[in-house]
Amino acid sequence: IVPIRSGDGREGKATEALLVSFVDLTQQRRVEQMRVDFIANASHELRTPLASLSGFIETLQGPARNDAHARERFLKIMGEQARRMSRLIEDLLSLSRIELNAHVMPEAAVDLVAVVGHVRDTLSPLGHERGVEIGFANSVGPVTVRGDRDELIRLFENLVENAMKYGGSGGRVEISIGRAENDVVVGVRDFGPGIAPEHVPRLTERFYRVDTAHSREQGGTGLGLAIVKHIVARHRGRLGIESTPGEGATFSVRLSGQFHQDEKSDVGTAA
Ligand code: ADP
Repeated sequence: IVPIRSGDGREGKATEALLVSFVDLTQQRRVEQMRVDFIANASHELRTPLASLSGFIETLQGPARNDAHARERFLKIMGEQARRMSRLIEDLLSLSRIELNAHVMPEAAVDLVAVVGHVRDTLSPLGHERGVEIGFANSVGPVTVRGDRDELIRLFENLVENAMKYGGSGGRVEISIGRAENDVVVGVRDFGPGIAPEHVPRLTERFYRVDTAHSREQGGTGLGLAIVKHIVARHRGRLGIESTPGEGATFSVRLSGQFHQDEKSDVGTAA
């Protein structure tokens, strides 16, 4: 603690020093608390499928040993639980890799239209399975951004996957590429139930879900948007979330872009 003297003209300074160290400590505690919560949440998320796996192993070794039908059914569930654990571990590793490099801005020139097209092509078959059409409209033509291609793919995959997962069955997802001043804006829009305003500011927190059971049912880990937030930050971009409950949601990513064509001339990448 800084001694606060009076009457020697240093009063103000000492008070300031005291305040600064107090703020730092609060911030330090907050970071520490977040770290502790994160470890607790991650452990809990891993423990649940692990407990289920252990239970099924015991049942298969005991009561269900000679029941071929039960064995088949249990092995299917065990496979799903194992996949859930590996998805979670993959996401945890991605998050820590991105965080480790948080202060280094990736610098490669990336063709953003190709990245978004790739994401659409990769996810379209899954969309077909679920009866979801993925549309893509580009109103700016070719555009390059500085960044990391794989991370940008991951970012838009997460947003499109969410739009398919939460956008309601038989729906539509629209990806758009547009321009705002010197920035490029990629929007991912769905027409599902949307998100109530009180949840919006918390969506990018790790493990935050509006409906945990629904997220798990859809194969969610609760880390998708946390990963999105970190990738956007590393690219010095901005993430926007807009939603009118009952009408859908739009997630948009704004990045500094280099445009190669007059904005008015649409190159017709829309499908
Ligand atoms: P999850 O693995 O649960 O999908 P995310 O971090 O990707 O985790 O998303 C966090 C939560 O945000 C989801 O569980 C869901 O409740 C909500 N959410 C994300 N995208 C949408 C969307 N397009 N429409 C409605 N809710 C969404």
